[in-house]
Amino acid sequence: VDAAEAPVVVAALGRVAAVLRDLEEELGRLDAVAGDGDHGRGMLRGASAAAEAASTAAEAGHGAVACLREAGRAWADRAGGTSGVLWGAGIGAAAHALAARPAADPATRAAAAVRAGVAAVVALGGATVGDKTMVDAAEPFAAALERAAAGGEPSAAAWDAALVDARAAAQATADLRPRLGRARPLAERSVGTPDPGAVSFVEILAAVRSVVVP
Ligand code: ADP
Ligand code: MG
Ligand code: MG
Repeated sequence: VDAAEAPVVVAALGRVAAVLRDLEEELGRLDAVAGDGDHGRGMLRGASAAAEAASTAAEAGHGAVACLREAGRAWADRAGGTSGVLWGAGIGAAAHALAARPAADPATRAAAAVRAGVAAVVALGGATVGDKTMVDAAEPFAAALERAAAGGEPSAAAWDAALVDARAAAQATADLRPRLGRARPLAERSVGTPDPGAVSFVEILAAVRSVVVP
């Protein structure tokens, strides 16, 4: 399984980097409202480094888990900024969760990987739902995948429903005031604009879905 999945990991991260290239400006604009405007640049740098690292690992004959682990390291090292460290940790934790369940069905493995990634972000960044961070989109996404996996729903429907929930949650962050991160000092100014990290989370998982789930 692990060796066969390595090309899927490489393709998914390539797709993520391509989507973030298209969104770079928009994410920068969102982050400039109350933050420092670098979210688009940082995410693109992180994802590009991650895609490259995964590709190098796959070419060296490593399996999917090792590719993901290298990708997480590269993302954290090269992105810069809070989101880069958090995404690096999240991807590393997702890799670990996949390694622990080689034989589970795809929906269960995906739900476990996403949950582990979100848990790592929460453990490291200390955010809870409502703080106006990526966690506001990530938590409902993980919960929806878990529900669907437990109910035996087919993966495509599960991912689509989870993305609908996460996208609504990301848009709903527009009404919130940031309680963490660089946008906090200018919290009032951010009201009316969604959290950039929540928006990028949704688009990244949509990109992953388009590659991983047929
Ligand atoms: P920086 O704030 O260092 O410039 P970015 O602009 O790349 O980093 O990322 C900002 C995003 O990071 C925010 O929109 C938010 O979603 C996320 N973020 C910031 N702090 C936290 C945290 N403690 N926990 C979870 N997410 C966070
Ligand atoms: Mg920023
Ligand atoms: Mg910054």
